Amino acid sequence: MSYKGLLLDLDNTLYNYDAAHAVALKESLTFFSQKFGLSDMDALGAFEKAKADNHTQLVFTAASHSRLFYFQRMLESIGAFDVKMTLKLDAVYWEVFYEAMLPDPHVLEFLSTCHIPKCIITDFTAEPQFNKLIKLGIDPWIDHMVTSEEAGVEKPHPFIFMRALAKLGLNPEACLMIGDSYKKDCLGAQALGIDSIYYKGEKEKEDVAKGIFVLDNFHDISHWME
Ligand SMILES: [Mg+2]
Repeated sequence: MSYKGLLLDLDNTLYNYDAAHAVALKESLTFFSQKFGLSDMDALGAFEKAKADNHTQLVFTAASHSRLFYFQRMLESIGAFDVKMTLKLDAVYWEVFYEAMLPDPHVLEFLSTCHIPKCIITDFTAEPQFNKLIKLGIDPWIDHMVTSEEAGVEKPHPFIFMRALAKLGLNPEACLMIGDSYKKDCLGAQALGIDSIYYKGEKEKEDVAKGIFVLDNFHDISHWME
């Protein structure tokens, strides 16, 4: 394979987002429930409702993922909005999240030995994504970054991919996308003629004719790209 540039998803591709989110959410909801004398179930219910409402109202935008907005809405829903408390819940969440993050197996080895330019392409507000790269210790190997907050649209919208290609200064056929979401990462890339690796994806969805390949770890990806 002779790709000249890499487009990399971040969450659940370069590290386990689900695991970090689970412990961060538990910690912030424990703080919330103790503060307001709520059961764990009620606290979780308030969070899930706040999250769902935020996603509905801000669909297809980076702000739909904002933890600050989730906590703000959660406090508002129990009639307890407070500026400092909103920021405190957000701070608790991110402190635990960053601490819990671990790069996926072989990610560090892959990034440090793959010498073509790399652009992160990720759906989220910008600041947490920048922090994640630092906490994972992978920022020295990342040449460019596009968040959906910067692009104004989310994957699989072509604009966010086009922005990444422009930063790399490369044509679609010269690039490879690696991500865990078939719809957002692989179909988004494919719409522009970019080959992709459906990371840890369902084998049945591999479509070599369309340039979509399924691989389970970064060691294999490294060999596949040789
Ligand atoms: Mg992902």
